[in-house]
Amino acid sequence: ALILGIESSCDDTGVAVVSASGRVLGESLASQADIHAAWGGVVPKLAQEAHEAAIDGCVEAALAAAGVRPDQLDAVAVTIGPGLSLCLRVGVLKARQLAAAHRLPLIPVHHMEAHALVARLGATRFAAAAAAAEQLQQAGRQPQQVAASVAAAEAASEAALSPEAEAAVADAAAAAAEAAVEFPFLCLLISGGHNLLLLVEGIGQYTQLGTTLDDALGEAYDKVARLLGLELKPSGGAALEAFAREGDPRALPFSVPMQRRPTCDFSYAGLKTAVRLAIEEQAPEPTDANRQLRADIAASFQRVAVAHLEERCRRAVGWVQESHPQVRHLVVAGGVASNQYIRGRLSAIADAAGLRLVCPPPRLCTDNGVMVAWAGMERYQLGLVEPPPASAEVPDGEWLDLRPRWPLTDRKDPRSFTAP
Ligand code: ATP
Ligand code: FE
Repeated sequence: ALILGIESSCDDTGVAVVSASGRVLGESLASQADIHAAWGGVVPKLAQEAHEAAIDGCVEAALAAAGVRPDQLDAVAVTIGPGLSLCLRVGVLKARQLAAAHRLPLIPVHHMEAHALVARLGATRFAAAAAAAEQLQQAGRQPQQVAASVAAAEAASEAALSPEAEAAVADAAAAAAEAAVEFPFLCLLISGGHNLLLLVEGIGQYTQLGTTLDDALGEAYDKVARLLGLELKPSGGAALEAFAREGDPRALPFSVPMQRRPTCDFSYAGLKTAVRLAIEEQAPEPTDANRQLRADIAASFQRVAVAHLEERCRRAVGWVQESHPQVRHLVVAGGVASNQYIRGRLSAIADAAGLRLVCPPPRLCTDNGVMVAWAGMERYQLGLVEPPPASAEVPDGEWLDLRPRWPLTDRKDPRSFTAP
């Protein structure tokens, strides 16, 4: 099967085509970082206009890169929420248009589900490939034969693998099978709008262990980056991570939030205020002279913000290992998961607990079309699709189903939840 996915919930227009085995056949991404950097945040109206300007080209580019015609697709997946409704509607209207023109089923996708499930991208392919590789190696076959057979095994279930990829598949297969993320897994989603600790037991089967009581970590990174006068490119968070490498993480004594509350919930508002006050008092204007001090503030903020993350994760790991001993993976995803310092800190927690840490590559952590296409594929395989719309237009009186606010854990909502 081939699924095209469309993402437009915030400030990135992303489109991708993926196969059932989790290969990304083509993708395209239009970032609006330049537009919003000038304003210090995402301006919904400008974001909508940028999505409108980019969407047709992104869809064409992803299809062209994949070498796929729209009528060869099996379904169109699209983020319907949560996010900015002005932005979501651009993606949803485009998805409707494609689906109506080519009689394709539509798959509504939850943006945070897509962030979480992208960690499973390719899991089925790796598992099948690794099983084949192991059998052949045990039978004493040569590496080339193994590679060819693994490729053949893939080809049997899927479109042919490119010849250059064959050798790579065999090498990667055994290691990758180990990393293939299966349900249930523990998941930390850290992004611009969310901070969630979840037990993921299946598609749509999410138990929330913790959430933020105020701000998300990405939001705090963005805010501190702005206060420090950094250029917010490619994002405030990425700029702050880079700048913090110049600083001393112990220079300022910020305190770790909520230490007396033994929950898995998060809070970043207090830390954000403490950092703001420190900047206002000690480095109100960014200058070359106070660069070291500002870097120290950045590094200290990051250390304490992440210490909070670590403490919450350790608690969640402990809880999950008691209640669900079959959990083998800690998945960390969402835009902030592209942060290398955070990956390092969380990998120590996973190692200590005997769990495998899985962070998608950074380009799949920040918003992208691949994650939507893949979440769509997982839903497609369970039959969780909606019939093709009769026309691209939304008929009078019919309501375009956008969900700007949409809890991931709403078990009464059939679009969120798969009945077991
Ligand atoms: P949500 O997914 O909650 O709807 P979003 O889609 O706007 O929000 P993402 O694109 O998933 O968020 O992530 C963007 C966030 O990730 C921004 O807040 C950005 O600053 C942050 N971010 C990106 N790279 C890094 C990094 N290296 N370190 C810290 N934060 C980062
Ligand atoms: Fe996101």
